[in-house]
Amino acid sequence: MTLVADPDDIRLSDRPLIVSDIDDVVLQFIDPFNLYLESLGHRHLPRSFRLHGNIVSIADGSVLDDARVSALIQDFYRLQHDWQRPFETACETLQSLAKAADIVFLTAMPPVYAATRRALLDRFGLTFPMIATETAKGPVVERLHGGRDQPVVFLDDMARNLASVAERVPECLLIHLKPPAAVFAFAPPAGDGVVPARDWAEAEAIIRSHFHLRQARCQPEKN
Ligand SMILES: [Mg+2]
Repeated sequence: MTLVADPDDIRLSDRPLIVSDIDDVVLQFIDPFNLYLESLGHRHLPRSFRLHGNIVSIADGSVLDDARVSALIQDFYRLQHDWQRPFETACETLQSLAKAADIVFLTAMPPVYAATRRALLDRFGLTFPMIATETAKGPVVERLHGGRDQPVVFLDDMARNLASVAERVPECLLIHLKPPAAVFAFAPPAGDGVVPARDWAEAEAIIRSHFHLRQARCQPEKN
C-alpha cells in the first residue's frame, strides 16, 4: 500500500470502519523495545508508566537522561523492522474483519519513520491504509469517519487516545486493547464507556457484536 498522510486521501467503502492503533495493539512494542535496550546494555524498570526516568544502565544502575531515552525511542523506530512483530492472531483477525469492514491504521509516530513502518506491515500482509501522525487522534478519526451512517470502532492501548476519540466521535465504539506487559499495570485507566479487551479474539467478538447490533437497529421495522 502507498503511504497516506492525510485522512481525506483515504477512500472508504460503504461499510463499517475499524480504526486501529499499531504499537502494542497490532505490532508488539514494549517487549521488543526492552530487548533492544538490553542489547545496548540498558534496562527498562517498570516502576511507572513512563520510559523517561525508568531506563538504567545494567552496568552501574545509573538512570539514562531524558535526551538519551528520546534518542533510543527514535532509533528503535528506525530499526523497527528488526525488532517488531505482530501479536499472535492480530494478522488473521484483521484479515477476517476486513471482509466485512474497512480498516485504517492510525499510528502515533514521527512521519519520518512511516515508510519503514509501511514496509514492515506489508511484510505481514497488513496492507490496510495507514496514517502516521503526532497530532491528537480524535480529530483524525473525526475527519476519516465524517459522520458516515456506518458504525465505527477505534482500538488503542493508551487511555488518552481513547479519550481524544471519545470527545470528537461520540458514536465510536472504543476498545482498550493492552498488551500483557508489566508496565501496563501502571497505565492510566480508560474512561467510562470504553470496552476492555484482553486480546484480539475478545476484540473481534466485541467488534462483530457491535456491527451486528448497529446493523440490526438500522433495519426497517416489520409490520
Ligand atoms: Mg499504541
